[in-house]
Amino acid sequence: MTFTIHGLPVSNGIAIGHAHLVSHTSLEVVHYVLPKNLLAEEVSRLEKALKTTHAELSALRENRPQQAAAEFDAFLDLHLMILSDEHISHAARDMIQHEHCNAEWALKTQMDTLVAQFEAFDDAYLRERKTDVIQVVERVLKVLSGHPGHVPPTPQHDIEMVLVAHDVSPADLIQLTPHQFCAILTDLGGATSHTAIVARGLNKPCVVGLHNARELIKDRDMLIVDGEQGVVIINPDKNLLAEYKLRQAELALEKQKLKRLRTARATTLDGTRIELQANIELPSDLPQVLENGAAGVGLFRSEFLFLNRDDLPDEEEQFIAYRTVLEGMGDLPVTIRTYDLGADKQLKGATRVASNPALGLRAIRLCLAEPQLFRVQLRALFRASIYGNLKILVPMLSGASEIIQTLHIIESVKQELAAQGVEYKADVPIGGMIEIPAAALALNVFVKKLDFLSIGTNDLIQYTLAIDRTDEEVAHLYDPLHPAILQLLSQVISGANKANVPVSVCGEMAGELAYTRLLLGFGLRQFSMHPAQLLASKQRVLTTSLTEISALTQKILRADDPIKIRELLDRLNAA
Ligand code: PEP
Ligand code: MG
Repeated sequence: MTFTIHGLPVSNGIAIGHAHLVSHTSLEVVHYVLPKNLLAEEVSRLEKALKTTHAELSALRENRPQQAAAEFDAFLDLHLMILSDEHISHAARDMIQHEHCNAEWALKTQMDTLVAQFEAFDDAYLRERKTDVIQVVERVLKVLSGHPGHVPPTPQHDIEMVLVAHDVSPADLIQLTPHQFCAILTDLGGATSHTAIVARGLNKPCVVGLHNARELIKDRDMLIVDGEQGVVIINPDKNLLAEYKLRQAELALEKQKLKRLRTARATTLDGTRIELQANIELPSDLPQVLENGAAGVGLFRSEFLFLNRDDLPDEEEQFIAYRTVLEGMGDLPVTIRTYDLGADKQLKGATRVASNPALGLRAIRLCLAEPQLFRVQLRALFRASIYGNLKILVPMLSGASEIIQTLHIIESVKQELAAQGVEYKADVPIGGMIEIPAAALALNVFVKKLDFLSIGTNDLIQYTLAIDRTDEEVAHLYDPLHPAILQLLSQVISGANKANVPVSVCGEMAGELAYTRLLLGFGLRQFSMHPAQLLASKQRVLTTSLTEISALTQKILRADDPIKIRELLDRLNAA
């Protein structure tokens, strides 16, 4: 039966492929097929993980904390029993051997079968035992995932796969890159969550906030994913498939045509030059940046170097990453943001999870709290500075005191390098992100103390409208056209322009065609966006007259009725 579900479109394009559901445990599990000669090794990996888990549980039982309830022993005994049960261990081993799948997938499948059996019990107590099965399997999966260097091979499926998950963290998504999913669907997530941003970076259609996709879609269902409309069609008939294949071909043609603009200058009809730069997460994104003719890197989210690993990248490793990007971009500017860890980008193994991480020890706050970590990054950045046109951008600054402390640390790192005779550029511009409403409202201190500004609309909207950008329940309230947001944007852009301090927008708004003219009308001359959006944005710039849009943008700024604002915006974009 064909049916359709709707979510939030976060990454454009059309994909057609088979559904691949990932586990409903908190640990998402990837499925891949192994060649015959690796099966014995996979079985021994499973057995080792089962043994380690057994040892962990036994140790817990032996060293039971004094204050633990008496049930603790019984609970551990039950978990040890489940672990040794042949429905898990033997059945998983058999499955690896017969179906050539990875250990995680075999375990997850056995767990699902057992959970279904428990759910069928009439007795409430027995029904509840499914939770114990899940917890035990999760524990083994954790041990399995802790095997460093175990990189799953590319799946050997003939047909493309659509990843269907409850949620995927940005770190998971980065790991999934080589596994060639043609699209990504998640139950959770907002349009500007980092998961969505990374999905865009992978250039795959992505729909988030689908609520119950994993309940409605079955493994191997045929899916059409329309990343522009946020629509997923399950088991389409022949006609629909043909229609979407045609649309897919048309989109590929449009993309091909845009390539002609790669070397064209981004200039408005009235001759004003606009800088269109690229956002990147890793040095490996560089080819895309160059292919799309970016005028520089406007945002390198350096914290992605820190994800998916047990250790932290040392100074040398960071230096090499920064130097690679600087050299790759030649004379063009490269804006490297100091790391924005915390919130939805946690270090692996981070134990302290704040009750509200977006408002917690995140970004520059973490750097100031742990200056040693920050200094390592700054040393690497300044050492790399001689290899290109570096700018350093500091995230989440809220006011004067943080700016002063940050500049002080930067100065002291420079002095340290000079004392050690290490070469670096002394005049690297230092900029600040405007992404906290307080920063936008107290702009004076930012323009006085910093060399440039970059507006992070993703967080500015999150914090101004009090909407968690990762929470799909409130995603519908995430509104870049809210009058408060428009006022803040216009004020920051004109305030920076008046003070002669370069300002750009590097949040997701910068790459959305619907907002290009609006931001130009506010006086913005520098945009930074995902590389895949650059050429379409250039086309929009080339067809815009600043003189013509001026009056209409001012009208939008004065309007307070959301319907009226949308109407005016449509007029602005139709011109
Ligand atoms: C932003 O907040 O708009 C931004 C560009 O930073 P990030 O999305 O990495 O938080
Ligand atoms: Mg931000």
